[in-house]
Amino acid sequence: MPVPGRLADVADSPPRPHTGDTVYLSPPDVGPLEESYLIAALRSGWVAPVGPDLQAFEHDVATRVGTGGAVAVNSGTAALHLALLGVGVGPTDVVIVPTLTFVATANAARYIGARPVFVDCDPRTGNVDVDLAADLIRALRARGERVGAIVPVDMFGSCADYGALLPLCAETDVPVVEDAAEALGACHAGRPAGSFGRVGVLSFNGNKIMTTSGGGMLVCDDAALLARARHLATQAREPARHYEHHETGYNYRLSNLLAALGRAQLLRLDQMIARRRHLRDEYAKLFAPVPGVRLVGAQDAESNCWLTVIAVEPQRCGWRADDLARHLAERNIETRPVWKPMHLQPMHAGAESLLTGAAERLFTDGLTLPSGSALTEPQIARVLAAIDEFLSARTGPSLS
Ligand SMILES: *Cc1c(COP(=O)(O)O)cnc(C)c1O
Repeated sequence: MPVPGRLADVADSPPRPHTGDTVYLSPPDVGPLEESYLIAALRSGWVAPVGPDLQAFEHDVATRVGTGGAVAVNSGTAALHLALLGVGVGPTDVVIVPTLTFVATANAARYIGARPVFVDCDPRTGNVDVDLAADLIRALRARGERVGAIVPVDMFGSCADYGALLPLCAETDVPVVEDAAEALGACHAGRPAGSFGRVGVLSFNGNKIMTTSGGGMLVCDDAALLARARHLATQAREPARHYEHHETGYNYRLSNLLAALGRAQLLRLDQMIARRRHLRDEYAKLFAPVPGVRLVGAQDAESNCWLTVIAVEPQRCGWRADDLARHLAERNIETRPVWKPMHLQPMHAGAESLLTGAAERLFTDGLTLPSGSALTEPQIARVLAAIDEFLSARTGPSLS
């Protein structure tokens, strides 16, 4: 079969996301396996948002997450939008969203015209504060609001406290849409992330635990919800030979080529998680003797270790998260603050929120460290040495 010349070149040199000697926070981890899946899909002729890799990818992810089915779409954000529509959120509803999250979680509610109401997090994990969420649901109900959904986010790859949250939502009859965009491969009490809500949402963005370069998925047991999402994701096209539409849909389907990439990534998911866990363990060792520094959510053995995050108490350790960030940036090592809370975002100025200050403190005092599974041993050694150098200058030689 004729293959364009450039592909042959690409086949000789697997894609390498790293340029120069910068260590990135969470770069894509792709190699020969992804390349062979992608090229096979291209050669199959299914260069469209439909095809056998798309079907297989949905099946494989649903199997992994333990749900009855899945619908692949072109972003996690699109999946969130369809998930909220799927549980019946309407334009006059409120949607409870953790204030500590990526903006997509709140945007999805806005797309529908619903009003996000923000709730603070547990400072230990960054996940939704369930007691506070309970207070919020009751307060909103008492005022006669319709709570269309709550969207717990499995922050940095650790599941929210579903042991407490699910009974609360069942008792108050609030649908749960699980934003597991960061948490594929994680579990909570042995059950996989993505399987906790009426519907779960995954992301395959370039920085996530596995990637399709961009993509997302709805996962759930409700065949009708999935069929509806699939319909809306394909411009709500009716099954007719001509183009027949009864309502406004979206062009949200994932490309078959990218699904092929995703299938290869899924085969390597456990290996990539193990790599990130190894990095987290190294960070844990390095920071263990440092008073005033802790790893956020690190007690969770079922985390997928997507990002390792430290929280710094400047009064105890004598330096700020920003100081370490600057030290590392000068050495071409990328770090990021944790998500800026939604209630502090100009676009949500004046939004209703129930807060304790936990998310704001994590924003000020938290730092996400290079966590990618594609980091090489020399890169990891460089990051650890740079942190050690920083700590030694402030606290004396570390014990590691
Ligand atoms: C990445 C992410 C999303 C959105 O995913 P995209 O695929 O980038 O649209 C949603 N929620 C959270 C918490 C995320 O981290």
